Amino acid sequence: MAQAERPPGQLMPAAFFGHGNPMNALEVNRYTAAWRAFGQAVPRPRAILVISAHWYINATAVTAMPRPRTIHDFFGFPPALFDVQYPAPGLPDLADEVSDVVHPTWVGADVDSWGIDHGTWSVLVHAFPDASIPVVQLSINAGKGLDHHLELGRKLAPLRERGVLVVASGNVVHNLRGMDWELTDDGFDWARRFDQDAKERMLTDPTEFATLDAHPDYGDAVPTPDHFIPALYLAGLAGADDGDRPDVLVDGYAYGSLSMTAYTIGMHCPPVTADDGAPRPPADTPPDESNI
Ligand code: ZN
Repeated sequence: MAQAERPPGQLMPAAFFGHGNPMNALEVNRYTAAWRAFGQAVPRPRAILVISAHWYINATAVTAMPRPRTIHDFFGFPPALFDVQYPAPGLPDLADEVSDVVHPTWVGADVDSWGIDHGTWSVLVHAFPDASIPVVQLSINAGKGLDHHLELGRKLAPLRERGVLVVASGNVVHNLRGMDWELTDDGFDWARRFDQDAKERMLTDPTEFATLDAHPDYGDAVPTPDHFIPALYLAGLAGADDGDRPDVLVDGYAYGSLSMTAYTIGMHCPPVTADDGAPRPPADTPPDESNI
């Protein structure tokens, strides 16, 4: 299906995806169906700027190579997952645009270190399967606090006027040590409490999303902030002056300690009714050694 062109003046939507298990790249389930529906519903972007949990480094950088490589940054999964390629082009010119909008935050242009990691491609293989739209990643600066990332998300808002689809990919609840491969489609009580309160915050007061670090379940839900921070970028965009209220695209839990909640702004995605079953566990990798 050909994607609609974006009418002049219309803001490009934006999204946060809970990517979960990288095996989602190869599966068809209610999450991947929602990601696909999202990709079909958005106007065709000029480029996709992705903030992935898996590019968590000590700097703010954007990928600026013309042909970003597909990175298989996980352990213990079947060979078929290592065979996945997402050959989208880059868009080196976007590095300058990102630098301009986030000024005075300094943004490095990465020409040879990163590429397209699995936080990005495990979703995009479903949302944009033909890999024809340029993809650029923006790193998460691990040295900065939650407020910084919320503010950086807010500053990315002008890119929506320029046909750039901002996509954040992580998991609001992500505790690898707490995972149980047997609980394919279920969440522990603390995971549900945190995800539900985060949802309430995202839908009603996204500018306060960073204060979730005071939540009593934050320590269990967010033992490390890498997968939570991408959601701050969408909250920041939603809180921008002309931002929209987020909608839930799809939600649910996996392996007890992951939430799969995804949000969009600037669009209404048709509800997904297809349920082809829960995500399945991968080969017997200890969850905390899987880097998912
Ligand atoms: Zn991940």
